[in-house]
Amino acid sequence: MFTKILIANRGEIACRVAATAHRLGVKTVAVYSEADANAKHVAVCDESVLIGPPPAKESYLRAEKIIEAALATGAQAIHPGYGFLSENEDFADACAKAGLVFIGPPASAIHAMGSKSAAKALMEKANVPLVPGYHGDNQDAAFLQEQADKIGYPVLLKASAGGGGKGMRIVEKSADFKAALESCKREAINSFGDDKVLVEKYLTRPRHIEIQVFADTQGDCVYLFERDCSVQRRHQKVLEEAPAPGMTTERRQAMGEAAVAAAKAVGYVGAGTVEFIANQDGSFYFMEMNTRLQVEHPVTEMITGLDLVEWQLRVAAGEPLPLKQNELSIHGHALEARIYAENPEKGFLPSIGTLRHLHTPPSVAFELGKGAAASDPSAIRIDSGVRGGDAISPFYDPMIAKLIVWGKDRAEALAHMSQALSEYQVVGLATNVAFLKRLVESKPFSTADLDTGLIERNHAELFPALPGVTLPTLALAAGSLLASERNAAKDPWSNTSGWRMNGALQRTLKFADESGEYPLAVDYRADGWTIRLGEQGAALTIVEAEGKHLVVKVNGATARGTVVRDGDVFHVFSGGTHVALNYHDPLAHAGEAEAEGGRLTAPMPGKIVAVLVEKGNNVEKGAPLLIMEAMKMEHTIAAPADGVVEDVLYAVGDQVAEGAQLLAFKAG
Ligand code: ADP
Ligand code: ADP
Ligand code: MG
Repeated sequence: MFTKILIANRGEIACRVAATAHRLGVKTVAVYSEADANAKHVAVCDESVLIGPPPAKESYLRAEKIIEAALATGAQAIHPGYGFLSENEDFADACAKAGLVFIGPPASAIHAMGSKSAAKALMEKANVPLVPGYHGDNQDAAFLQEQADKIGYPVLLKASAGGGGKGMRIVEKSADFKAALESCKREAINSFGDDKVLVEKYLTRPRHIEIQVFADTQGDCVYLFERDCSVQRRHQKVLEEAPAPGMTTERRQAMGEAAVAAAKAVGYVGAGTVEFIANQDGSFYFMEMNTRLQVEHPVTEMITGLDLVEWQLRVAAGEPLPLKQNELSIHGHALEARIYAENPEKGFLPSIGTLRHLHTPPSVAFELGKGAAASDPSAIRIDSGVRGGDAISPFYDPMIAKLIVWGKDRAEALAHMSQALSEYQVVGLATNVAFLKRLVESKPFSTADLDTGLIERNHAELFPALPGVTLPTLALAAGSLLASERNAAKDPWSNTSGWRMNGALQRTLKFADESGEYPLAVDYRADGWTIRLGEQGAALTIVEAEGKHLVVKVNGATARGTVVRDGDVFHVFSGGTHVALNYHDPLAHAGEAEAEGGRLTAPMPGKIVAVLVEKGNNVEKGAPLLIMEAMKMEHTIAAPADGVVEDVLYAVGDQVAEGAQLLAFKAG
């Protein structure tokens, strides 16, 4: 075994790899960018090396810097995690040339699977079933359109070098093909430096089922069963589980054997995932092979009781696979939810900011490597690269954490997940926590009516109208405000409750959220307050106010929760829900004017990838004006109304800051 490894990654995966290394007595070296000097992954490793400025291109993607760091610190091997350089054959090669072990497959296997097109050609030869499509070299637009017409719509365009759900376009009809191809190629060249695409039949209601494989240098290869990752948004996984609901023993074996054949066809070594797209009838086709550890590997660990990173280290050190195929078995059911800094209500737009308040459900370190049976069956595992107070920056993936639960069956795992999500509190940026909870509890998911379109198809159920804010919730927000004022009032210089001093014992607290406005009339009484919202009135007393934790009585009934004030917003966490109430503070905002008007601004820092209008153009409401790329997604800036473009302030390739004005626009 190695004595020291370098982890060429950041965030949760770097922390997760370090945990296993330390358990095995292996020392770790972290690398970090200037944005990550205080990051958790740096703190948990034994040593660390600064490798460059925040952009990944100048830090986490700089192979030579990372290899230099490994040599300088005396590491014998490099674990690439996922993303970044993990599927970069040149990096794997460079490691070998520098005398370092790349903890992953040989460069030749990465190469073989690196292009989705070439991989499909190889799989065809190995008799692995493929989705009908064209994956050849001819990239002529008219030719590709002909192929699409032949395959029949809808078709899916995929960047051959793509990954992470990027560089894909569904084309519904021939007339849309040209525009989709252009946009696909643009994203492909921007993200992967290669605009080659393939065309596939777009399956309707498919499931994404993937097989974890593991191969050693002795030529053995096993499969560690399947994961169902059908629940996706923008072709990216949101929930993953193992085993796949409805999987039969025969099909599991057939898929497992096909995956092993795929791995063997490319001389695979280490952890890999063969992704299949499956029809509802169970027929399955090869989609791609990810030649690395997968984000969702923990669900496999939970049902097998194995530590896949330990296996990676052992295989990389030349040891044989720890277990044979017939020694592997499935125990119970595991579920993973990816907690992202994003806003599901706004098309899952990534969100950035500081985790000003972070409360997680109690989790125990899953006893990796000891078998699932040895761990607490209600164990919750949280893999995270951030702590309270840390920031989610625009430079990297906006994942906050992975929440992983285990149950003896799917129903129990679902119940654990739902409970864990209701205890997960984040303030400071938008998250998908509430959405995940609705998803896990929804009928289609809980009854395992799975396919990759689940989220879109059940949009109405998953995005219900915001319920009106209830009196107990308002009472908690008001109680928190009144308690803090009462505390502050002890200091005469910061006394904000002038109402009492003036003898005016009534005020109105103006709360609002997207569901409406909630002016709460408050009467001060000797022993508490009377609150009134429209027709509803109640006596309010504070039973307990300790930090953010609050217990109040509203007309004799107890309401408890956590209230976090973030500027003008009161975040009320109570009974598993999170309500964000805007509070209009009459003192803080005296004299502020609304000055927005004709500005079209960048929703987040990013790069301009297309400008679709010119100064002086007349446009209709909704017309796309400009496309920017930020956080690995394209964002279209559209005309807010019919009007005229008075100025275009940036050009293609320009980097823009959050809030920067992009265009001057005049409605009318
Ligand atoms: P990536 O490299 O981005 O992961 P994949 O080829 O694995 O790309 O596809 C990602 C997702 O896109 C799949 O999980 C699935 O939801 C969807 N998808 C891919 N191919 C097809 C297809 N032919 N028909 C329908 N959906 C597909
Ligand atoms: P999986 O199939 O395991 O979800 P993805 O293809 O979605 O894998 O990518 C794995 C992870 O790596 C994702 O979180 C993705 O956002 C991240 N990732 C992919 N490419 C990069 C990159 N170039 N830099 C940083 N993170 C990346
Ligand atoms: Mg994939």
